[in-house]
Amino acid sequence: MTLADAQAFAVAQGWPRYRGEQAWRWVHDKGARSFDEMTDVGRANRAAFAERATIGGVQIAEVQQSRDGTRKLRLVTRDGSSIESVLIPDGEKTTQCISSQVGCAVDCQFCATAKLGLLRNLDAGEIVDQVYLARRLLAEQEPDRRITNIVYMGMGEPLHNYDNLVRSLRILTDQKGMALSQRRITVSTSGLVPKLERLGNEDVRPNLAVSLNAPNDAIRDEIMPINRKWNIGKLLAALRAYPLEQRRRITFEYVLLAGVNDALAHAAQVADLLRGVPCKVNVIPYNPHPEAGYARPSRAAVEAFQNECKRLGLPTYLRTPRGDDIDAACGQLANRVNGSPVVPLRVRRGPPPPPPVD
Ligand code: SAH
Ligand code: SF4
Repeated sequence: MTLADAQAFAVAQGWPRYRGEQAWRWVHDKGARSFDEMTDVGRANRAAFAERATIGGVQIAEVQQSRDGTRKLRLVTRDGSSIESVLIPDGEKTTQCISSQVGCAVDCQFCATAKLGLLRNLDAGEIVDQVYLARRLLAEQEPDRRITNIVYMGMGEPLHNYDNLVRSLRILTDQKGMALSQRRITVSTSGLVPKLERLGNEDVRPNLAVSLNAPNDAIRDEIMPINRKWNIGKLLAALRAYPLEQRRRITFEYVLLAGVNDALAHAAQVADLLRGVPCKVNVIPYNPHPEAGYARPSRAAVEAFQNECKRLGLPTYLRTPRGDDIDAACGQLANRVNGSPVVPLRVRRGPPPPPPVD
């Protein structure tokens, strides 16, 4: 529920509006996971809430810790679906990478999540609860750290789950809840053009990252089948029209696959494509996983590609893989523990979630 939903819920029960807000703040600001924790709500009212509502969409099933401090959380939904979220410490910052779907339908050839197919959308509660569980984990284990940034770069294509994406953004940025700044939230998409146009008109304004990954349609068609529907021309036209806030830039992600899209001539094509778009490029050397037949280019090839982009005027950054020893790096999220797939748990607690939206 958004705050407005919680207030309307209270009114629908014949209760005062503020009682909905009171409970909502306990959940979203203070991190309560049961109505019993709501000490300033009367006992009878807590019981009335507990009869009508539930708190929390996911539970932590496993936490794996990487050599580099990255933690991968495997989370289980009420209907037993398994999803993953990654906590990445970086100096003062802590970025959490969250999932928007169980699996993904987009079928990018280099991505481990694609191999799961799409099982279902996450609802907004399951999206934000990943953040609340991580917030609680940090408070217990590293009280000096706070989640400072959120990236929708875990499992799934966020724009395929549009309504729940936008709801989750409203909840996470609500001043009366976790109050994350929208400047510290990034939504990453493979480029669903009509949904991008819609997102540009929303009142919540996260940063935008777009998985370009190819210098031309021939290569993008091959590695990202979605390009056959919305090709680079259509994608860039939508992005050029995207209403960006002042001083913001679009991030383009570019997974470097040896011998596929990593030639210097490809860098020149990328620079041509992006001319005039306020942007930066994040080069991500391919993270290997068992299901895909690609290879990571040599360090020299990665540097040469990055330098060529820079020379041609594109601000280009190298994303060093984080958590790749625990299959937590970009493109490796496929519910694996110690390298082996996990059989999804079938625990049923509470009602099944609503059917996928969209
Ligand atoms: N579905 C969204 C967000 C999740 S994917 C999207 O595609 O944008 C997050 C990023 O990981 C994307 O930029 C994707 O291109 C990248 N990625 C996928 N598989 C990868 C791999 N094996 N190695 C490196 N990056 C990968
Ligand atoms: Fe889905 Fe993103 Fe993976 Fe493509 S890269 S299959 S859109 S999660």
